[in-house]
Amino acid sequence: MALFGKMENLNTPNKENKDMSEVEKVKVLIVGSGPAGYTAAIYAARANLSPVMYEGMQPGGQLTTTTEVENFPGYSDGVTGPEMMEDVKKQAVRFGTDVRFGMATAVDLSQRPFKVTIDGTKEMEAEALIIATGATAKYLGLEDETKYAGSGVSACATCDGFFYRGKDVAVVGGGDTALEEALYLAGLCKKVYLIVRRDVFRASKVMQARAEKAENIEILWKHQTKGLFGDGVVEGATLVKNQGTPEEEEVKIAIDGFFLGIGHKPNSDIFADYIDTNEVGYIKTIPGTAKTNVEGVFACGDVQDDQYRQAVTAAGSGCMAAIDAERFLAEQE
Ligand code: NDP
Repeated sequence: MALFGKMENLNTPNKENKDMSEVEKVKVLIVGSGPAGYTAAIYAARANLSPVMYEGMQPGGQLTTTTEVENFPGYSDGVTGPEMMEDVKKQAVRFGTDVRFGMATAVDLSQRPFKVTIDGTKEMEAEALIIATGATAKYLGLEDETKYAGSGVSACATCDGFFYRGKDVAVVGGGDTALEEALYLAGLCKKVYLIVRRDVFRASKVMQARAEKAENIEILWKHQTKGLFGDGVVEGATLVKNQGTPEEEEVKIAIDGFFLGIGHKPNSDIFADYIDTNEVGYIKTIPGTAKTNVEGVFACGDVQDDQYRQAVTAAGSGCMAAIDAERFLAEQE
């Protein structure tokens, strides 16, 4: 799964230009789509809660930028991420979910009904709120990533790989995201360097085996990225091998594309004033539930999961969030 870079605005509260005349009251508001949000919508809609969902900047979430999903139960031949998200969205709509394009940009969760601002302008009031805002790709933090943004740097192979057909590229990371990106790019590009900071992968065994078998993937173990170079566009990367050891050496590789695959940051910033998160921003839920520290606010999917981060676990937690919301609203009545 790799998306990335597309939901950053979720973390940018915008309290300006609100039109208070547009306040709309709903029972259940779901912010964010993806397997968690859509599943919450299916359950909430089937419980007659008339949910309204704002899909966020990337309807369908991270799976829409992934290739084949082979591990979601029920798809015995595999399915593409976008197809699966289209299916589950249709299911949510079929039961009456009001799915809208738009993004939560600010919230006030100090009292019920909860106030949620959409796109900085539209004000929603919700009796129960389900947060399913997912996570966004991480960058290394190099100045060159910004310098060459859109000119050779990407965090989404399936979005941008096409531009690098027949060329040489590099992918950073040793987890499933990086290996999935590398394998996808290996099918398009002449050569793919896989820059791995340790001498082991973190990825699943099946992905490791595929990457090691691919003839045009070269694994650069114990390499870290120091910078990128090129005249306006990426033409290469400067790497450090065996950093911090007597064998440390600088290595330059010629590449046209530099892809990030080093994990994700939860999109929880706009909720942080009210909702408890862990030290890296994942929303804390009460174990065994989707409940947050604010009664009536529930969280599901990658924004609250730093352990499993799978489509199937996200869907399961979306179901939990809707059932918890339904019970909460029933208790209020
Ligand atoms: P992971 O946290 O699993 O892996 C991140 C990788 O990036 C690690 O190899 C890590 O190195 C490396 N890394 C992190 N920071 C840096 C850095 N600053 N410089 C260099 N390397 C760095 O994240 P993923 O996004 O790969 O996977 C997250 C979860 O999603 C996992 O549970 C995974 O299984 C799942 N997933 C499943 C897929 C599927 O089933 N099709 C597809 C994609 C993801 P190190 O190991 O040294 O920490």
